[in-house]
Amino acid sequence: MTKRLYNFNPGPAALPLEVLKQAQEQFVDYQGMGISLMEMSHRSRAVEELNLETQQLLLKLLGLKDDYDVLFMGGGASTQFALLPLNFLPQDKTANYVLTGSFADKAYKEATHVGHTHVAASAKEQNWQSIPVFTEADLAPNSAYAHITLNNTIEGSRYQDIPDVGNTPLVADMTSDILSRKLDLNRFSMIYAGAQKNLGPAGVTVVVIRKDWLEQGSKRIPEILRYMTFAGHKSLYNTPPVHSIYMMNLVLKWTVQQGGVEQLEQQNAAKAKLIYDVIDASGGFYQGIIDAKDRSDMNITWRMANEDMQRKFIKESEAKGFEGLAGHRSVGGLRASAYNGVSLEACRALADYMADFAKKQG
Ligand SMILES: *Cc1c(COP(=O)(O)O)cnc(C)c1O
Repeated sequence: MTKRLYNFNPGPAALPLEVLKQAQEQFVDYQGMGISLMEMSHRSRAVEELNLETQQLLLKLLGLKDDYDVLFMGGGASTQFALLPLNFLPQDKTANYVLTGSFADKAYKEATHVGHTHVAASAKEQNWQSIPVFTEADLAPNSAYAHITLNNTIEGSRYQDIPDVGNTPLVADMTSDILSRKLDLNRFSMIYAGAQKNLGPAGVTVVVIRKDWLEQGSKRIPEILRYMTFAGHKSLYNTPPVHSIYMMNLVLKWTVQQGGVEQLEQQNAAKAKLIYDVIDASGGFYQGIIDAKDRSDMNITWRMANEDMQRKFIKESEAKGFEGLAGHRSVGGLRASAYNGVSLEACRALADYMADFAKKQG
């Protein structure tokens, strides 16, 4: 048997073992067709069906109806930082951004290259330690949209609830929390997510967009950059990342088998609690970075007394089969990313290791 690590990588991240094995089985000969999916025309029936089935399955799991379109695009979530303002920020309007972490900041910076922007709220001066409170009154007059990052992957914070922005179209980067918890996504005009955290491998980016908003997109930009082009062709305008979509299809079916988003949300809360409980009971040996009320269940971040102790912690963790616990290079510290594909067992093993390490060193 292959030895598998306890994988806490932040992204690309752990995929369910069942999914990897299924893909392995179909890798060379897809459904008995004599060639692999990667060698097939994207105009073939098999790919067309896979594409459509995956779009419908995702919409259903998100709790949305057919007043939304699902698009499969390339370029990662970072490309959406630019495509959003290119499509939806006309010169006579202002786009609102809420800065809650470095990805939110990057999204904002891309929009400043396109048109007028306004920072509705920011946690930058507080080192991203919490989610700032803001209301409709903090938005610019004549708003094009308001953009938020629902879960802050690098820092380890998240919105517990969807903020109220009145009638302003609300857009969210959900790359690191999509399908991890139940939210009323009907409140959004658009959400987007790179696949490589909760949906599958890298290569495909999901955009879910309200049809009536989609129609208002700019027609002054090249067609390949328009959301409308992708929607009009069911994301088969040009060659899509077929293998990534196939892997996502398997992950979505696995998600259904797990009991759907409700079940995974409970599981994710239980997983994160195991680790936060050790942090909180450690008497300061482990120091949580984010205000308790804004903590993420997906990315759990903490610090220890000094760099040496942190290095020691990581080194020993690697010897024990844990992968990916170093914090992002921009913030340091430690981070455990416990996405949908990370098991309760892995989180329990990590919590045990942390408690053990604290006892020995503390
Ligand atoms: C990982 C991540 C990104 C960047 O995704 P790419 O696909 O690498 O461009 C953007 N936003 C959030 C919230 C992320 O977690």
